[in-house]
This record gives sequence, C-alpha cells and structure tokens, in this order.
Amino acid sequence: MKPTQYPGESQREKKERTKKIVHALKEEYPNSKCSLNFTNPFELSVATILSAQCTDKRVNKVTQDLFEKYPSPEDYASVDIKELEQDIRSTGFYRNKAKSIKGFATAVIDEYGGDVPQSLDDLTDLPGVGRKTANVILGVAYEIPGLVVDTHVKRISRLLGLTTEKTPEKIEYDLQELVPEEDWTQWAHLIIDHGRAVCKARSPQCGECVLFEYCPSGVIEEE
Ligand code: SF4
Repeated sequence: MKPTQYPGESQREKKERTKKIVHALKEEYPNSKCSLNFTNPFELSVATILSAQCTDKRVNKVTQDLFEKYPSPEDYASVDIKELEQDIRSTGFYRNKAKSIKGFATAVIDEYGGDVPQSLDDLTDLPGVGRKTANVILGVAYEIPGLVVDTHVKRISRLLGLTTEKTPEKIEYDLQELVPEEDWTQWAHLIIDHGRAVCKARSPQCGECVLFEYCPSGVIEEE
C-alpha cells in the first residue's frame, strides 16, 4: 500500500486530524501499553535492547530467568560475555546484544553510579542505546514524553499522511510537531496495537479501521 497525503492540508489541519486519530485510537485500545515486563529502569533497558528484531513475548520469556540470574547492573558488568550470550541466545543477534548490555551496564555503573540516566542525550551516549531505546526508557520507565519510532510507527504514520520522511529520526521530529506532547509515549503503543490488529503490513483492513475517515491512504475494495 502506497502512503498518500491529503492535498493542500495545512499543518494546523494536520495537527487537528492527529488529535482525532489519537482520540480514536485511545477509544479503540484503552489498555494499550508497553508489553515488556520489567520492575525498574535498568531491567526495562535490558529488555528493550533484547527486543530488537525479536517479539516482546520471546523477550519476556528470556527475561523471566535473566532478571533473576542478574539482579543488578554489576552482575551484567562482571559476567563472562560468552555466558551472557548463551543466556540471551534465543532473542537473536545475541553477540551484539550481549556486548551492548554488558557495555551499557558498565557505563551506567561508571558514569551514573548504577542509575539509568533520565535525558535523551545522556541515554544515547551509552553503549547499545539508540533514540528508539532511549525514548522507550524515558517514556515507559520515567514517564518523560518519548516518541518511539519503530517499524509499525514508521509505516502507519506514513500511511496516515503525517510524515513523508523515511528515517526514524526525521519521522520522530515530524510527529513531535503533530502529536500532543502528553501523548508522545502512548502514540507508539497505540500505533503498535493498531498495526497488529488492523493496519497489518501485508493486508491493512481499511474497511474495519477506526481511522479510515482520517487516513488518506485507506482503500476499501469494492465487492
Ligand atoms: S485506513 Fe486504517 S488500515 Fe487502512 S491504511 Fe489507513 S490506518 Fe491503515
């Protein structure tokens, strides 16, 4: 499906339309939230690093044992990397992820006394943390608005005509101008739920979509 725009729509109109989209999604998915399990910001950081190219369900299965075996950043910093690799192997890309987690834990201890920092710049300076992971940590662990752009957010925000950009960073900036700041964190959760349930990558169900009237790319096939 090719993303389109409403011709001649002003930024102000787009902002109004975005508000309606947020409202409709909140009505449709009232329990939308991060599906990773964690009990503190450090655990959420580890889970988010593990979630790259892996389902949240699989990550939750792995972290159930992992968080018990490694209760503190010091445990990750001191473990033999080969052992950590084996512990997270089933999440895929385990060598890179083990390196990131160990590096992240070491830097959090050395630079922040074991506490995960609370600013985007500090977070993205840490090993293994890109803007996406940093925004998850800010939004979900600290309730500081963070606009996460993953594959669902990228694809559906483009279909909704809210951005024509292709890189996550530029999409994030476009969305920041449109989505009310208090909804930045929730935006990703809502869009991810919508992408899984209705606006599926291979077969968007436009005929059943609560956003149809706000979506320039929506198509309903004739019988
Ligand atoms: S109408 Fe809904 S399902 Fe169809 S492309 Fe737009 S958001 Fe996706």
